[in-house]
Amino acid sequence: MSQHEIDDIERAMRLSLLDLCGKGKNKNENEPSYDEDRDLAEAIKASLRSPGASSSSRQKQRVCDVCDAIIKNTHPPDQIPVCSEIWNQKVCPSHLQDGTPECCSCRKLKTKYVTYINLGDGRLICDECYSTAIFTTQQCEPLVDICLEFFNNGLQIQIGKHDFHVSMVDEFEMARLSGRGGAGLQTLIDQIPHPDSLVLGKTMSYGPPLISITSFSRRGNSIITAKQQHLTYGSPLRIAIAFGLPKVMTGAILAHEMMHAWFRLRGIRTGQLELKVEEGMCQVIGRKWLEWLECLEAQDRKTSSAITEHAQFQRNLIETYKYAVDMHSSYEYGHGFREAKWAVEKYKLHRTIDHILTYRKLPE
Ligand SMILES: [Zn+2]
Ligand SMILES: [Zn+2]
Ligand SMILES: [Zn+2]
Repeated sequence: MSQHEIDDIERAMRLSLLDLCGKGKNKNENEPSYDEDRDLAEAIKASLRSPGASSSSRQKQRVCDVCDAIIKNTHPPDQIPVCSEIWNQKVCPSHLQDGTPECCSCRKLKTKYVTYINLGDGRLICDECYSTAIFTTQQCEPLVDICLEFFNNGLQIQIGKHDFHVSMVDEFEMARLSGRGGAGLQTLIDQIPHPDSLVLGKTMSYGPPLISITSFSRRGNSIITAKQQHLTYGSPLRIAIAFGLPKVMTGAILAHEMMHAWFRLRGIRTGQLELKVEEGMCQVIGRKWLEWLECLEAQDRKTSSAITEHAQFQRNLIETYKYAVDMHSSYEYGHGFREAKWAVEKYKLHRTIDHILTYRKLPE
């Protein structure tokens, strides 16, 4: 990683910490509070990184949110989990590996009093994420319209309603579509897969009909789905999205996939772009969706002064997904994203994608 990229990550972390303090949202340039905010953010960052050095004995004696034991070992500074960073959930490092259920959406570890719902395909989701989750292809239709609005008006990237067709699918179908075959399915059933290892969306220009989720019901803490083979007419491009995720995350996945679809519509076939360039660019668009939602929510907040618990949850959820994009460790999604983001910051979005269309690579 270059120093420039490290600086970017540092800045992103600082900003998300500012957000955690409920500050940093204040765009008023006349407010002279930035230095205080920064000091506060630095203090929080320092305490996150070296809890042992903190003067607070309460922090030294912090009880684990999962097992109620006093946390003996702390996370190494470079491995602070998402649940600690965004949700202020303090856990023993061992729970990240000992099979403690992790919500596949918000990444919080399961604590005693929170219900986790089994999506039936190896994934578990907490009840708060469940409350806005999208399950069926039909339920997703209004969100497709919002994403179209985001592309056509927000980004000024033109894409039509009939250029692609979206289906909600489970992880079994996603594994089949991704060619991960039977071994992958067994792994899904046997153990809870780590969110980073899941495929959450896929765009296809050809292939077999999709098995999509048409209805669902909840029995106890398990989801039972009904599926149907989905024949699409007219749309050459099909987008499959993992079912059962909150609206904001489903939208981010959809925005990412719609960018793949846009490349196909502009004549770039699968594999013609270096994977890092295409995935990196799609991650940039997925992240822009999250920023767009944040702006919309900020506008809503102007009209109502009280921040409800649900609104705060939504804000943390957006932070979680942004964090996941920023901190992705893979070459294609992580490094690819940081390179594409750098190009978009330097040349703006439209010049960057025009350059990709013409030269099949990012501008330098
Ligand atoms: Zn514990
Ligand atoms: Zn959750
Ligand atoms: Zn992708």
